[in-house]
Amino acid sequence: RPKVECPPDVETLGRCSWTLLHSIAATYPEKPTTSQQSDVVSFVKLFSKLYPCWVCAEDFQGYIAKSAPKAGSRSELGDWMCKAHNDVNVKLGKPTFDCSKWEERWVTGPKDGSCD
Ligand code: FAD
Repeated sequence: RPKVECPPDVETLGRCSWTLLHSIAATYPEKPTTSQQSDVVSFVKLFSKLYPCWVCAEDFQGYIAKSAPKAGSRSELGDWMCKAHNDVNVKLGKPTFDCSKWEERWVTGPKDGSCD
């Protein structure tokens, strides 16, 4: 029988969404234009309203309200995203991620070339 593909649960939705969010930051310009900055901030705010896990969405909106998205450069956005993700990690009792390793995880892969 072919494998059945099921609608995503909160975990799968979360993993896929963080992959998208960190990948957007990973490909964001080092020197964004004013309109690129306002686009990404608008995107994150709209994402937080439309995220299809209502508890998650509400908490993410609360996080954005106290810590506005920073979009002045790729590393600024990556760092903001890493901290936002860590806020959820803490809430869920998961280990926090060392944000100095953000680029290695989401942009370059490890130096030993295992992701090349
Ligand atoms: P994930 O947390 O999905 O992480 C995926 C990978 O990202 C990890 O394997 C690691 O390599 C890397 N990573 C981990 N932390 C960081 C970081 N700080 N910065 C960069 N990379 C990192 N679930 C709930 O049950 N309740 C909620 O309220 C909730 N809110 C959410 C809000 C948002 C905006 C999103 C996108 C997801 C939310 N989730 C929530 C889902 C939750 O965060 C996880 O995605 C889900 O529990 C699956 O966890 P995971 O252990 O597979 O790894």
